[in-house]
Amino acid sequence: MNFQDLSGRRTVLLAGGAGFLGSHFCEALLDRGDRVICVDSFLTGSRNNIISFANHPRFRLVRHDICEVLEVEEPLDDVINLACAASPPRYQADPIHTMMTSVLGTRNLLDLAQRHDARFLQASTSEVYGDPEVHPQKETYLGHVNCTGPRACYDEGKRAAEALCFDYLRLGRVDARIVRIFNTYGPRMQADDGRIVSNLVNQALNGEALTIYGDGEQTRSFCYVSDLIEGMIRLLRISENPGHPVNLGNPREFTINELVKLVARYTERNVSIVHMPLPQDDPRMRRPDITRAVELLGWEPQVHLEQGLPQTINWFRQASEVA
Ligand code: NAD
Ligand code: UDP
Repeated sequence: MNFQDLSGRRTVLLAGGAGFLGSHFCEALLDRGDRVICVDSFLTGSRNNIISFANHPRFRLVRHDICEVLEVEEPLDDVINLACAASPPRYQADPIHTMMTSVLGTRNLLDLAQRHDARFLQASTSEVYGDPEVHPQKETYLGHVNCTGPRACYDEGKRAAEALCFDYLRLGRVDARIVRIFNTYGPRMQADDGRIVSNLVNQALNGEALTIYGDGEQTRSFCYVSDLIEGMIRLLRISENPGHPVNLGNPREFTINELVKLVARYTERNVSIVHMPLPQDDPRMRRPDITRAVELLGWEPQVHLEQGLPQTINWFRQASEVA
């Protein structure tokens, strides 16, 4: 492992910085002493997410849709692309814009990185594996994605973005790195964005029935946000480009039914359950093989669901009291 001690000396442009993951990433970079330019269209992000550091002297916000070309005058050291709606109902609401965000938006940011000779980190996703036929998923698995289904705007957009990153890398234009993020949860998820953890927790806290799509036996692996951001920073800071994508996620796998039980236990509510149809192309199982991240970055998740879920529930509880 060879990390460059670059903290406190970087100017980082972070697209999608007002979103759930992006706002934690901005905060972590500010804590390390970096200067952060947050670029966001506020499609799914919110001012509340960045309110605690919006006036920080090393933070600047630029409202911009990355589908449009972006010019930045001050020199940039790193460009990070997290801009893209991540929840299925949100990214399916305007599927063409979702696809364009990943394709045109990533190209615009890669061009920006090239002009600044900046390092580039692309937030890809476990969705590039689609409904996987191998389990757990290693980075070498090429995936099983339905290119004409309702999730394709996201999955295929992210696959195209990976292809672009590797072309810029092979052509010697940008030092582009790719993280494939598995389901991540924590404070600042949007209560109404439709993802499983935010849905279940808010339904339980509001005394509503918990919605299980299908039989609830499909699996996901849930990574706490602080673990994910630490892994992403390590991938950005490692001196050598690894030359391949890196999975980041928590390898402990839960069925949705198991998650429901944990939410009921930690919210201390008697919950009722309503079953709804399984959405089309919903992956049956998902668990990362994180061998590469362990060997390359010395990274492993530290926060178990039994710790992270109560912290997330507390955050949602407090957020609803403030609202
Ligand atoms: P999010 O929806 O909370 O954040 C996305 C941010 O990008 C928002 O602030 C949104 O306003 C902004 N954005 C969207 N389209 C944009 C555009 N065209 N131009 C500028 N800004 C735009 O989602 P998140 O969970 O924080 O996800 C962040 C990134 O991580 C996404 O790229 C997502 O694909 C990836 N990812 C997340 C997860 C997860 O579990 N959270 C899993 C896999 C991959
Ligand atoms: N899901 C569910 N109830 C909900 C929201 C989601 O049962 O209220 C299921 C969904 O069908 C999927 C899993 O939970 O099988 C994770 O869904 P999410 O939208 O969080 O993420 P993704 O499918 O992208 O992993």
